[in-house]
Amino acid sequence: MNPTREQDNPFLIVQEQLYDAVTRMGLPESVYETLKHPQRVLSVSIPVHMDDGSVKTFLGYRSQHTDVLGPTKGGIRFHPDVTIDEVKALSMWMTFKCGVVSLPYGGGKGGVVCDPKRLSPGELERLSRGYAKAIAGFIGPDRDIPAPDVYTNAQIMAWMMDEYNNAHGGVNQPGVITGKPLVLGGSLGRDTATAQGCVFTMRETAVQMDISLDKATAVIQGFGNAGSHVARLLAELGVSIVAVSDSRGAIHDSNGLDVDGLLEYKADTGSVLGFGEAEEITQGDLLTLPCDFLVPAALENQITEDNAAAVKARVIAEAANGPTTPKADKILAERGIVVIPDILANAGGVVVSYYEWVQNLSRFYWSAEEVHAKLEAQMVEAFQKTWAIRERHGDVNLRTAAYMVSLERITEALRLRGRI
Ligand code: NAD
Repeated sequence: MNPTREQDNPFLIVQEQLYDAVTRMGLPESVYETLKHPQRVLSVSIPVHMDDGSVKTFLGYRSQHTDVLGPTKGGIRFHPDVTIDEVKALSMWMTFKCGVVSLPYGGGKGGVVCDPKRLSPGELERLSRGYAKAIAGFIGPDRDIPAPDVYTNAQIMAWMMDEYNNAHGGVNQPGVITGKPLVLGGSLGRDTATAQGCVFTMRETAVQMDISLDKATAVIQGFGNAGSHVARLLAELGVSIVAVSDSRGAIHDSNGLDVDGLLEYKADTGSVLGFGEAEEITQGDLLTLPCDFLVPAALENQITEDNAAAVKARVIAEAANGPTTPKADKILAERGIVVIPDILANAGGVVVSYYEWVQNLSRFYWSAEEVHAKLEAQMVEAFQKTWAIRERHGDVNLRTAAYMVSLERITEALRLRGRI
């Protein structure tokens, strides 16, 4: 989000995380030099005919961090606070995320500065198509493959795929974008993949830390695609969800919230506020409630040097990208709080996006069970590799360990291509 302090600028944060891992691994300086900036960043303006007859111009970006392991891949965010630095940072996190889970991709990310809640369905469609048209020459199944992110969804992916295909003379190329509706080449399991992957990493962490899930409690910030599915999947494993929030506010019930009821309530009213007997608390209080698992599933820079000392969770599972600043990371590590880093915890989304792309290229579609089993195997393997590096080094946290897993592959690929 719009950083108010320089140290909260996500682009500077990801550069710092990369530098730490490169130094820790004793890799040549050229690895950092090659990866510290995206390879390519496109900035576009998108004039849109509004319903009142006026024309409004929106700004959009697409960042492609590195193609060393394959085409770039990453979501498109629609949000009023999108900045070019945020998009660049998110594209870099995507590179390291793809590396941890061994995908043949580099990182990409897109964003449009807009408030989709204030657009009519027609305006939203024209903006989505305008952005896709503006970046059509820059993306493609072998170049850069977008997907949904904050405030974008399967319908928006469908419009964008359609626009890309129109811009390329009417080809039918579903593999240009993932997170599509099923009937247009989406994959079974994509809608819940980010949350499911996150819950797999939480389950594995619980095993390592001797936490019994059926006695555990969780607090979830953000109740959108990632957060709401994490809540449901954790509840299915017996975890008690004691607090959740969305952009309008936060609710708390120490006896555990009825997650199915809450999902229905949110679908009907548009917010979690006012649900059942739950008490309303502040967004700040939510982050410092005592619990086993805290799941930030909204936006960046939520756990900072200002509140890290007050966090009472045993484990933080970063469903969101970049929710913890480096200064907060250090405080949490000193306090023995385990952070499952975003590049591992929320990698399930890009893993199933990869499955969707593979299915699109082969025009052969898999069952939900096949997707689930493959995702579980891939997430558990990535978790175990990361945990093993942390154990081996003793003094690195899981974030640096995840960067190390990723950088091993990326560095080898850079070397073999002769780029470092
Ligand atoms: P979404 O738009 O579906 O949901 C975002 C949620 O956050 C909404 O409930 C919104 O009300 C809430 N929110 C916004 N501002 C908030 C605030 N200040 N406090 C509390 N809640 C707030 O988005 P999503 O797809 O669920 O993405 C959430 C996070 O997960 C983002 O960081 C995104 O990059 C990351 N992520 C998503 C995916 C995916 O596949 N959807 C994959 C990887 C990472």
